[in-house]
Formats: sequence, C-alpha cells, structure tokens
Amino acid sequence: MTIILKISKDNPEKILVKQAAVIIKEGGLVAFPTETVYGLGADALNPKAVAKIFEAKGRPADNPLIAHIADKKDVYRLAKEVPKEAELLMKEFWPGPLTIILKKSNLVPDIVTAGLDTVAIRMPSHKVALALIKEAKTPIAAPSANLSGKPSPTDAGHVIEDMKGRVDVIIDSGKTDIGVESTVIDMTVKPPLVLRPGGLPKEELEEFLKNIGKEEKSDKPKAPGMKYRHYAPNADVIVVEGNKEKVMKKTKELIEEYKLKGKKVGVMAAIKEHGYEADVVKFIGSTEKEVAKKLFRALRDFDKEDIHVIIAEGIEEKGIGEAVMNRLRKAAGYNVVEVR
Ligand code: AMP
Ligand code: MG
Repeated sequence: MTIILKISKDNPEKILVKQAAVIIKEGGLVAFPTETVYGLGADALNPKAVAKIFEAKGRPADNPLIAHIADKKDVYRLAKEVPKEAELLMKEFWPGPLTIILKKSNLVPDIVTAGLDTVAIRMPSHKVALALIKEAKTPIAAPSANLSGKPSPTDAGHVIEDMKGRVDVIIDSGKTDIGVESTVIDMTVKPPLVLRPGGLPKEELEEFLKNIGKEEKSDKPKAPGMKYRHYAPNADVIVVEGNKEKVMKKTKELIEEYKLKGKKVGVMAAIKEHGYEADVVKFIGSTEKEVAKKLFRALRDFDKEDIHVIIAEGIEEKGIGEAVMNRLRKAAGYNVVEVR
C-alpha cells in the first residue's frame, strides 16, 4: 500500500515530514519532491533499503544513485577526498541542481555507487527534500521517481502513475521548479568533466571553473545512466533541429507523411505561430527555462492523448537548453533530423 502525503512546498508540515522520515529510517521507500524532478528515496547507508529502489524502478543494477544531503558537512563522511575546486562549487551552487562526483568513503554501500569507487552527492534546495533528509538523519539515495526508461516525474501525479503500489510513501508538493535533472560533474578527474548537462547551465559553472572537459562520445559513458534508453514516452519521438524556417518546413512534411500512414501525430512546437495541422500541437514555452520546466510533462501528456508519433522541434542549446536537447535526443533514441 502506498500512502500519499500532501506536504506544503513553502512550509512543510513537520508532523507529515516526520511520518515520511520514519519510513526512511525503517528501510522503506519515499518518493519526494526536489527542485529538479521527484526523487525515489531510501536510506543511503542501508543497502537493503537501497536495493528496493532498483526493484521499484526496474533500474539496471549498474546505474548508480545520487546521495542527497541536507548539510554540506556530510560530504566529508561520504567522500574520501574533497578537492578545493569541489568545495568552491559546493559553496557557490549548493543547495541547488548540481551533483558532484567524488571518491567514495567506506561508509557508502557499494549498491549506491553500483560498485564504482566514486559517489555522486547533491544538496537539493527544495524545502521538503531538505526537511525530509534532516528529519531522517541520514543521507537519502535517490534517482528520479519514474519507472526506468520513462520521462522523469515533475509532478506528484506522474509519480503516482509510475510508482503507486511500489513504494511506501509518495509526497505530493505539486510541480517541481526546474523540470530536468541535476547537472552531474566529475571532480575526480582533471580537468573536471560534465557527465550530464542539467539544471545548472554550463555557462554558470564556467564562471567558477575555467577549464571544464566534455565527455567524448563513447560506448561506455562515465555516468552509467547515460547509456540507457531514457525519458521515453510510449509514442515514437522524432527531433527536428536546425534553421528555424527549414525546421518548420520539415515538420510540416513529417506531419503529412505520418498522417498518410494513419498515425496520430503530435507536435512539440518551438514557436507559437506554427500553423501546424497535426492531431495535437503543444507549444511549451518561449524561453529555455520554460521549456525545461514543461518538457517531461508534455511527453507524458502526449501519451495520454494516444499520440503515435511526436515531432519535437529543437531549441537553442544555451543555458538549460543544453539539458533540454540532451533529454529530447535521448527520448527520441537519437532519431534526429537535422536541417541546417
Ligand atoms: P537519476 O537520478 O535517475 O537522474 O540518475 C543519476 C545519474 O547520476 C545517472 O546518470 C547516474 O549514472 C549518474 N551517477 C550516479 N553516481 C555516479 C558516479 N559515481 N559516477 C558517475 N555517474 C554517476
Ligand atoms: Mg532518472
């Protein structure tokens, strides 16, 4: 049985937070909001509890989790070494949408890190997440609270869709603010490497770290999670990227092509004045930030409308737009049409 607890985003009710924290302490699973997406949490220091996360999500065992903390001091318990540059990032960007990879200490169970000798750590800024971690008095290991492969949940309703009956508690604090997952940076290598673009734009990181590497495309990405089909709705997704006029022309052609095949076609449009004649057209925002916030919801909503093919127009890869395009291309299984 899953208990759903409505907890205020701005003033978390202590008694309800306590109720959820007890479940964590007892080795149960609690889905909770963060500023990025909803997480599926368990006591990070309890391997049996962490195992339940993998089971509930259907998550491959080689995909490590992020340990969430509410006090920066906890980094020194979970990590063996904390380089000066990592401390600089913690000071500047925590609490916030940045996950830092460090050498792990012996305190962290292997199941959390999928056997790696590094650990991913983040201090979220969401009041409910912070209150829950503080009250549980333990770091909380949490990936996103979706079934493995599905779009990440940005509202409690999405968590309920995927996780009801699979977890002990789902906290409902409404929509999340950022809408895409955290940026993951590996501070165990020189220069530091961004393993996953996310809620914290690279441009902001670059103001503090002069030299940041970007991972080369390889068969074995360093963030193991990046190799799986991900963020994918039931519908097929095609991304159309490039010059605005050409994108619109290509989108129109694709709409006609799939309609002729008898498919129900949805379009995620990058501009408002589109004139598309698809079955469903969603315009999800005029800024990168707005699109990030609404992206995963839109993908789930297309499924509810039984769309067969989603044609998604690319947006500019600046700021959080880089994370948006990373998620979109993955959702499409790299089915990308470029019209430059
Ligand atoms: P999720 O919370 O579902 O977005 O997944 C967490 C992401 O962080 C996944 O892409 C993981 O592969 C990545 N991650 C977690 N721990 C590590 C680690 N020790 N080294 C590299 N990547 C990690
Ligand atoms: Mg995830």
